[in-house]
Amino acid sequence: MSGWSLVYDTFDPKAEGLREALSTLGNGYFAVRGAADEAEAGGPHYPGTYLAGGYNRLVSDVSGRPVENEDLVNFPNWLPIAFRHLTGEGATGEGATGEGAAPWFDLQASELLEYRQELDMAGGLLHRRLRVKDSAGRISRIESSRLVSMDQPNLAAQAWSLTPENWSGPIELRAALDGRVVNGGVPRYRSLRSQHLVPGASGLEPDGVLHLEVETSQSRLRMVQAARLRLSSGGAPLNVSPEPDLAEGYAGARFRLTAQEGEAIELEKIVALFTSRDRAVSEPRLAALDLARRADDFARLAQRHALVWSQLWRRFDMRISNNTETETEEMNRILRLHVFHLLQVCSPHICDLDVGVPARGLHGEAYRGHIFWDELYIFPLLNQRLPEITRELLLYRYRRLGAARRLAQEAGHAGAMYPWQSGSDGREETQQVHLNPKSGRWLPDNSQRQRHVNAAIAYNVWQYVQATDDLEFLSAYGAEMLLEIARFWASISERAGSQSDSTGERWMIDGVMGPDEYHDGYPGQEEGGLRNNAYTNVMVSWLLRRAREVLERLPFHDRDELCERLRLGDDELARWEEIADGLTLCFHEDEDGQPVISQFEGYGDLLEFDWVGYAAKYGDIQRLDRILEAEGDTPNRYKLSKQADVLMLFYLFSARELRALIEGMGYTWDDRLIERTIAYYSARTSHGSTLSRVVESWVMARIDRRRSWQLFCEALRSDVFDIQGGTTAEGIHLGAMAGTVDLVQRGYTGLELADDVLWFNPRLPDELSHLEMELRYRGHFLQISVERDRLRVVASNHVAQPIRIGFDGRIHDISHGEELEFPLQPSNHEPAPDAAAETAKGDGSKRATG
Ligand code: BGC
Repeated sequence: MSGWSLVYDTFDPKAEGLREALSTLGNGYFAVRGAADEAEAGGPHYPGTYLAGGYNRLVSDVSGRPVENEDLVNFPNWLPIAFRHLTGEGATGEGATGEGAAPWFDLQASELLEYRQELDMAGGLLHRRLRVKDSAGRISRIESSRLVSMDQPNLAAQAWSLTPENWSGPIELRAALDGRVVNGGVPRYRSLRSQHLVPGASGLEPDGVLHLEVETSQSRLRMVQAARLRLSSGGAPLNVSPEPDLAEGYAGARFRLTAQEGEAIELEKIVALFTSRDRAVSEPRLAALDLARRADDFARLAQRHALVWSQLWRRFDMRISNNTETETEEMNRILRLHVFHLLQVCSPHICDLDVGVPARGLHGEAYRGHIFWDELYIFPLLNQRLPEITRELLLYRYRRLGAARRLAQEAGHAGAMYPWQSGSDGREETQQVHLNPKSGRWLPDNSQRQRHVNAAIAYNVWQYVQATDDLEFLSAYGAEMLLEIARFWASISERAGSQSDSTGERWMIDGVMGPDEYHDGYPGQEEGGLRNNAYTNVMVSWLLRRAREVLERLPFHDRDELCERLRLGDDELARWEEIADGLTLCFHEDEDGQPVISQFEGYGDLLEFDWVGYAAKYGDIQRLDRILEAEGDTPNRYKLSKQADVLMLFYLFSARELRALIEGMGYTWDDRLIERTIAYYSARTSHGSTLSRVVESWVMARIDRRRSWQLFCEALRSDVFDIQGGTTAEGIHLGAMAGTVDLVQRGYTGLELADDVLWFNPRLPDELSHLEMELRYRGHFLQISVERDRLRVVASNHVAQPIRIGFDGRIHDISHGEELEFPLQPSNHEPAPDAAAETAKGDGSKRATG
């Protein structure tokens, strides 16, 4: 890798799936995996084209039982370009039958002399260059570049060329749009139905434009792809007419010509892609043909595409440095790779598309393109860079508020209960059964009990409003979601019968799962779910307390109308506060007899797990759920977690906020509670989810700096080195990608949004000497620079109102053109922002920057 690119200079069939995922190009509207131009699905290759929000449902038979799944559909492969040598009869030009032709070029059947694949993140391009020798000794050079336009979301383009190095002779070139594809990217799903596309018309227009139409079988989403093909040599057009090569679900064109030694044959393929959901079009076929004809050539498309990327990079790039240049270069590169993929899914082009963030991006078919709680890790990065994207993604949730109300009602609750996995229409998409590839057994999937996704949605709404002060959003959408979710939590809470120290009656939440998916119930109990998951209860307590504050932020009229519509009165708000104060938090003792927060009620009674024995037996023990189930055991019996659960609390709340929450719930706080609880769970987590290391690195940052750094480095390697051993090929882990960048953005700067103040409390890891980035906060562009001994903040935007920056307990106003500088000492550790602190200008040195 160089600073801005990901380079592979060998072809490795075993790594090809991973490389395809990491070389995916997309623009928020659609994406294509980085498969070779000539590749079809099979062997090491899996070309996949995914449309944001492009779902379809199919019913499969699993052991005699109908099981319905909604999948992100693999749409027609628009990449195919290939060539072959013609001999004898096949070489006789027009009307030739194709007999006497060598097989189509296949990398694996050739001798590979040179290979280089480069993902250029600055320009948003994928380049491939190879030299191959066939069995007849012919050496050919094949070069190609591709883009999925960030400038015009309905466009993609390929520039392909073939140069005969030591031969001349007749060849055939083929370019196609191939709709004969199925969803076959995830081996675990292969016994389920996978044919989502119904073929429609295909053709080759007299002016050489190919087109193909398909429709999804259930959601009736029509897609039309059109490709304009141009053949040239050394830049001069070649006058060769294409022969149509049409079949059901396939539109191809073939060119026969004679290649001359040393002369490149170039094929440019400009692809327009439209669907029946697109705005501002009459119908997709017309739109696709029209755009394919009108579009610029590859070079000009690439120029405009690069301009948009450069603007995105201006907002998102961050630079870290330390003494070992090569190491930081590598880190900067991986951080860029993470930003690059995030922006290819969450780009400004998602506006109006009504889409959420699929956990595995638009990069593969794992988790069927569903949307989980992972946006909790993604939004903080977007909030501080392009908050308009967060707004759009929150609107995806708002539009499904009706579905969430129905889900709550069906489960016997009030308010809105969002599903654990969400797809097209907001119903619960969590699979009913899942396959354990280790045992080959289909097992009931209880993960939909992860109601905590509802706390995350409410938290995200509030964080977005904190970052932007977008009260119009809060009035029109955010408050309603937040209050309806609060209402759901109040209705699922039950009286526990016991007494709290300060507030009277205790409340409990039963039958749920926390983020740790290894525990979905109590051992031996048929009825699944857990009682008093600490993460859930504290989040709920936070949310129920927030309700009044949310209402107070709204203009009177809006507030009154909303309360009227929701039939929300003072009594109900008071009841929410009572529950917030009385929710149960359980504790048990650690090895030293000191209290730690229990992940859920009864956690302390579970068995210790034999970590050393299992590591010795299995090596990779990231997925202990699968290992234990295959042994006829269950993780429910043990003190072990797949991922951060209680620790999420220290990730989402500062020590100050958490203390207020826990004391508010009527429990006594002691200053070592956080440290003990972190150490306890850190020793009992397998990191079976890539999200886990992000959280643990974050919470360790101020306690065990070495461990924190080690976890950060591991989290950075999650996808680029596929540390889960095969999962990245099925789609990147977008939450972990964004989470690592956010660790630098917020974790190392100690950035916190609270009480309309942007607080900083920087603490660079020992391994870093400098961090620079640009943030957006309430309309301002802030240049942030952190060194070991100082923090510098420069504000710019002459039309934005002054903002408030907090540091070391004091608040400073800052306006356009001003700069704040704060000296840093080793004691800048614990966040101690105090909202009541008076505005104190002058403690940080402030000057105008002109
Ligand atoms: C994790 C969840 C996550 C999901 C999608 C699972 O493995 O346990 O927390 O939401 O993957 O990324």
